[in-house]
Amino acid sequence: MNADPLHVLRTVFGHAAFRGRQEEVVRRVASGGDAVVLFPTGAGKSMCYQVPALCRDGVGVVVSPLIALMRDQVEALKQAGVRAAALNSTLSPDEAAGLRRALRAGELDLVYVTPERLVTDGFLDLLSRCRIALFAIDEAHCVSQWGHDFRPEYLKLAALRDLFPGVPRVALTATADPQTREDLIERLGLHGAEVFTTSFDRPNIRYAIVDKDQPRKQLLSFLRNKRGQSGIVYCLSRKKVDATAEFLNENGIEARAYHAGMEREARDRAQDAFLKEDGLVLVATIAFGMGIDKPDVRFVAHLDLPSSVEAYYQETGRAGRDGLPSDAWMTYGMGDLALRSTMIDQSHAPDEIKRVEHSKLRALLAICETPQCRRQALLAHFGEAHPGGCGNCDNCLAPAETWDGTIAAQKALSAIHRTGRRFGAGHIVDVLRGNATEKVVRLGHDRLPTFGVGQDHEERTWHSVLRQLAVIGAVVVLPDHSVLDLGEPARAILKGESKVAFRKERTFEASGGKGAKKGRTPASASSGDAGEDRLFDALRGERLAIAREQGVPPYVVFHDSTLREMARERPQTLDDLGRVPGVGRAKLERYGDRFLEALGRFADENPGI
Ligand code: ADP
Ligand code: ZN
Repeated sequence: MNADPLHVLRTVFGHAAFRGRQEEVVRRVASGGDAVVLFPTGAGKSMCYQVPALCRDGVGVVVSPLIALMRDQVEALKQAGVRAAALNSTLSPDEAAGLRRALRAGELDLVYVTPERLVTDGFLDLLSRCRIALFAIDEAHCVSQWGHDFRPEYLKLAALRDLFPGVPRVALTATADPQTREDLIERLGLHGAEVFTTSFDRPNIRYAIVDKDQPRKQLLSFLRNKRGQSGIVYCLSRKKVDATAEFLNENGIEARAYHAGMEREARDRAQDAFLKEDGLVLVATIAFGMGIDKPDVRFVAHLDLPSSVEAYYQETGRAGRDGLPSDAWMTYGMGDLALRSTMIDQSHAPDEIKRVEHSKLRALLAICETPQCRRQALLAHFGEAHPGGCGNCDNCLAPAETWDGTIAAQKALSAIHRTGRRFGAGHIVDVLRGNATEKVVRLGHDRLPTFGVGQDHEERTWHSVLRQLAVIGAVVVLPDHSVLDLGEPARAILKGESKVAFRKERTFEASGGKGAKKGRTPASASSGDAGEDRLFDALRGERLAIAREQGVPPYVVFHDSTLREMARERPQTLDDLGRVPGVGRAKLERYGDRFLEALGRFADENPGI
């Protein structure tokens, strides 16, 4: 080890101290050991290889699956005064040759490379003639077929162990599921590595899941206090992405669409705008997001149900990497469940996979319907115990009420049974509510004893009852036109042998809308101090100007959390400014004067604040 890790962390990156288990990882890798790092998004995985690479002799080789991600990381490193470069297919032959020359000459601290590039004979040959500080394998879950991002080229990375004995390897991922973890250790040949895990909790993310009821109106209501904030709105289909983006723009919220059906160029433009402009909403399919490490995504909204808890956690995890308060909000209904079920059944996957997919979907549904702490339920899914009562999810902020639903459950199950287990939720609810629709009359369902027995509850309540019965398996959604069938637990309920409690469904006003504002600090991470907020905005303005001059995303200049701290502390000298977290030596030199000026200007113009 040549340099002290803490010294590197402070002078280069401007962080005062290591976080969580970062230091353990850094010391292990810096002293030549292998490591597997399983930290959630936002925990600070990059430091786990960037710092040791700077502490050791030679160049750190970082394998990263995405070119966009590399570009941002390299840009951020250069801003911090680190000699970094990325080798990928976007380089011209000249640029690539220049990079190789720099590598050979030992002029780089870090080089980012795609797995495809790394394993070419030419590149391996070049590396064999360089001094290598370490190999970092980012997004290491890509090596696993269990994960959703399997990349066959990752399998070849196992060879690094034999080709470069003695060079430490560190594999990193935010994927929480145990199968993927085991798989990646196996496939990358990291048996001797020390495994570092931390809690997967994301305490700064506020979870809320609301019953779908006029989803667009619900979305607008959710976005009401979010002006000037960046966020992602996920939709299932391309068509819905386009329509939703248009709808938001019509309603005065600046939004862009992003999906795989768009021209490459238009897609890149949308992504670029999202990264570089403050306060843009990106409406996207899940084609967007992997490898995006924009730290100040303030919210992730789902207008459709993701495929699993893993997917939900990964998608919502893109919010709040910077640790500031952020929102994960979703609206979902029975229609989502039916759609997802149908997608699974119509896929060409083998039956065994379909069964797994169905059970994954049910697990997510259970989290949607739970009256308990969402965080507790989410973490439990990943095998982590949390005491509940997090105080930062919809269920904790406005505890869900429950009611004895045994009789309602019997009515609903009986309606399904008596209509021959052949209909979807809409028809069943019509029968329960006594709606003599054309279909009801034609089928003679208005003459059934269950017709109209459910007038004591509103339509939406019946839909909620059906969904909650699906969670416990008493109702089964068949793929065929979303037909509802009965499952095993239905029998005991119908016989009166088991009792059922339901969560009262909530209107959007009650969760995420007007009613939920009690005690809520706006997710904008506002300080609650108007003067400080205005200064923060002024500093953001300065940052945006600098970012535009250089054509980089604003967060590459400084993170929101750094600007927040500046607004709070109001440093007056370069020394003071240098002590603000996130202000390293290179950035202080580059931008120190401009930010001091901006601070001074604000003080002059606002003498009272
Ligand atoms: P991950 O890759 O785990 O999602 P990142 O490496 O992108 O996380 O880091 C997330 C955020 O945390 C970044 O804004 C980074 O600057 C910040 N960060 C990382 N380590 C520290 C630290 N020791 N002190 C303060 N901030 C840190
Ligand atoms: Zn909670």
